[in-house]
Amino acid sequence: MDHRLESQRSSPKKRAKLVLSNIYDRATLERRLAAEPFLRRTLSFYRYVRLEDPKTLREQLFLEWDALGVLGRVYVAREVINAQISVPQHNWEAFDSALNQWPQFAGMPYKFALEDDGKSFIKLAIKVRHQIVADGLTEDQYDVTNVGRHLSAAQWNELSKDESAIVVDMRNHYESEVGHFKGALLPEADTFKEELPEVLQKLRGKEDAPVLLYCTGGVRCEKTSAYLKHHGFQNVNQLHGGIIDYVRQVTNENLENTFMGVNFVFDQRLGERVSDDVIAHCHQCGSPWDRHSNCANKACNLLFLQCPECATQHQGTCSSDCQDVLNSSPEHQAEIRSRAGSRDRSRRFHRARPSEFSAGEFAPKTLK
Ligand SMILES: [Zn+2]
Ligand SMILES: [Zn+2]
Repeated sequence: MDHRLESQRSSPKKRAKLVLSNIYDRATLERRLAAEPFLRRTLSFYRYVRLEDPKTLREQLFLEWDALGVLGRVYVAREVINAQISVPQHNWEAFDSALNQWPQFAGMPYKFALEDDGKSFIKLAIKVRHQIVADGLTEDQYDVTNVGRHLSAAQWNELSKDESAIVVDMRNHYESEVGHFKGALLPEADTFKEELPEVLQKLRGKEDAPVLLYCTGGVRCEKTSAYLKHHGFQNVNQLHGGIIDYVRQVTNENLENTFMGVNFVFDQRLGERVSDDVIAHCHQCGSPWDRHSNCANKACNLLFLQCPECATQHQGTCSSDCQDVLNSSPEHQAEIRSRAGSRDRSRRFHRARPSEFSAGEFAPKTLK
């Protein structure tokens, strides 16, 4: 906290050159790391968020994290933070609570490294990027100053009644699976980057129709609306403040709610119920269920939908492999893990397919 105030009062430019970067050579850094008498936790996190002043933020984060002995590679841009870091174990709580002091970073979902020797990074480097390639767009594919019209909840309800209006969910598949606006177009994509071209392709030929975009907090729609306008769409609208603010407005102003189910959020809760409709299904037995959980096998940690009955039967795991790991000796667990070495580690969540819902059947192979 002191650091943050200090860096705002003093001249950040001068300090940036003098203090806010590593000054030792590689050999020295490696020696230091090897000699550390404590353990480190290695983790990564990523969030799409509006950051007004990434340069100042970068300096503040550097001071804060350097003081806690954090090492790693971090990128900040106006719309995103992407961090791969290691944190001294004894400073973990201080780090976590400091990060939660930043409203933009509160409740950050950490992804901990599976095999962690704590030696992944030798220094702390925080870089400001013009844009991190999360959406794969270059500057000439959109104009950030030419975005869609922002709609209040009341305006959204009114406009979405228009027969010709196309409501588009700009979140990922696993988010819209548990909750979405009635009649919305739900892209198949698992990432925002894949979603933009998919949406463009699906909307082709409807350049004059009113397009109504929504996402969790409104950030993704800013980019999408600019992208669609660039590609010739005339009537692009977006839900201001996203589902989060829609729910707030609907409650405060006693408006009709047209969002069904659960709003997926990236924190411990993994979702907020908006309406009583349960529109999703357990990925294992197919019964109605719309709350996400992570596989109880920590090495897997897959995000999926599992009803309480299946959770009991399969001990909270996503597959027979994971249940085996959970119930085996440490030696056997190591063996299973080495056997499963070729598994696709990038899979973070499970995609439901109707064919998987044969009753009583155990988790399908696609869970791997
Ligand atoms: Zn089930
Ligand atoms: Zn699993």
